[in-house]
Amino acid sequence: MTRKEYERPLIRKLETGMPGKFGMRNDLNPKTHIDEVAVSDLVRKYGSPLFVFSEETIVQTLNKAKRAFTTRYPRVQFAWSYKTNYLDSICRIFHREGAWAEVVSGFEYEKALNNQVDGKKIIFNGPDKSREDLQMAIKNDSLIHIDHLDELYELVDLAGELNSKPKVAIRINLDTGIYPQWDRFGFNLENGQAWDAINKIMHSGKLELTGLHCHIGTFISSTGAYGIAAAKLAQLAIDIRNKYKFAIKYLDLGGGFVSRNTLKGSYLPGPDVNPTFDDYAEAIATSLHNSGFETQELPLLILETGRALIDEAGYLISTVLANKRLASGSRSTVIDAGVNLLFTSFWYDHKILPAQPFSQYFEETLLCGPLCMNIDVIRNSINLPLLKKGERIVIFSTGAYNITQWMQFITMRPAVVLISSSGEPHVIRKREGRDNPGLMEQIPGFLELNK
Ligand SMILES: *Cc1c(COP(=O)(O)O)cnc(C)c1O
Repeated sequence: MTRKEYERPLIRKLETGMPGKFGMRNDLNPKTHIDEVAVSDLVRKYGSPLFVFSEETIVQTLNKAKRAFTTRYPRVQFAWSYKTNYLDSICRIFHREGAWAEVVSGFEYEKALNNQVDGKKIIFNGPDKSREDLQMAIKNDSLIHIDHLDELYELVDLAGELNSKPKVAIRINLDTGIYPQWDRFGFNLENGQAWDAINKIMHSGKLELTGLHCHIGTFISSTGAYGIAAAKLAQLAIDIRNKYKFAIKYLDLGGGFVSRNTLKGSYLPGPDVNPTFDDYAEAIATSLHNSGFETQELPLLILETGRALIDEAGYLISTVLANKRLASGSRSTVIDAGVNLLFTSFWYDHKILPAQPFSQYFEETLLCGPLCMNIDVIRNSINLPLLKKGERIVIFSTGAYNITQWMQFITMRPAVVLISSSGEPHVIRKREGRDNPGLMEQIPGFLELNK
């Protein structure tokens, strides 16, 4: 029989009040398993820290999103936003489930080709497309979303050179009541830039205007803003039809839906107050049905949702390195995952649970990463039980943007594991070592050391 661990006695103020309007929260069970696989086994096998993705959660989340839209609108297509998480295994799950690809660079474009996405189902966004990138996209018959006039002119030029009629859409920025407005991408609707681009495309005769696109921001919790965006794009498409007797094939409303995460400083937890796919779908579909389209001419609705489709499927497991008292007397716990791996901790109060049973003694804790940097804080203030050196925690909803924006800094980046729907863990990105090819260092002759 093992002896019970001693814990020092603690006097704690009784927190009787302050339930939210949804009552008191009690997420008081340890997160010992992810999709039936023990956290302790994962760490033993693949090390710590460790990113873990759940295929089951990805598929379920995508199905929820699809259902929300297809039950309200007849023609819907999702396109997976590569920059949100472009690990090939993750992209392939989305493609297998029917999503197209949405890319914003030549690198991402080639990744999509490598994942065997049909060129016609690749949407090429962003301000940075080289002439070679555009050539590649034209040859593959992809959907090129024009960001600025320089790109428009280059495309007209390339269309002549390649003797083909590229399929294009224009990115439009517009006032939806969300400020600051993202007006650095695409053409502004209200000041006439969008019409200027449309007229140039139509009069050139060289490009096929297939769609209208907007992406109003990210983590936008106002569903009304999407209703406005959808109404304005629909009206523009109808005006184009009336002026040029020409039907726009699709309206692409971009991404930006919130995940379940809780934004820093928000009063109530994200899962209780964040809009759901149904809320967004209702706002968008209502606008489109209320617009002047005849039922049979309703355009295809494309959604480039990134964050909301992958955040909940990703976990970050981390190990406690140390506990200490700050000068103020409050507790600080140091873990082996820092902001270089979890940059979203600057925006969110990530939900965090211990991975093993714990005592009832909770204390407000500053949860720090391992970097020798004062900014390396995962949670400024979180109620945690005493965690001992070597114990694990699980950080929730880390699947969006962290894998694409993490930095190799001070330490090497950890492995990424995917738990398949059948419950098997698979490494989908190896843990980096000193031989990390990403380091790419070279020593000039004059700094060679004598052997
Ligand atoms: C980043 C991006 C997305 C995905 O945005 P989320 O906020 O992750 O949903 C979609 N479309 C474009 C053009 C983007 O730049």
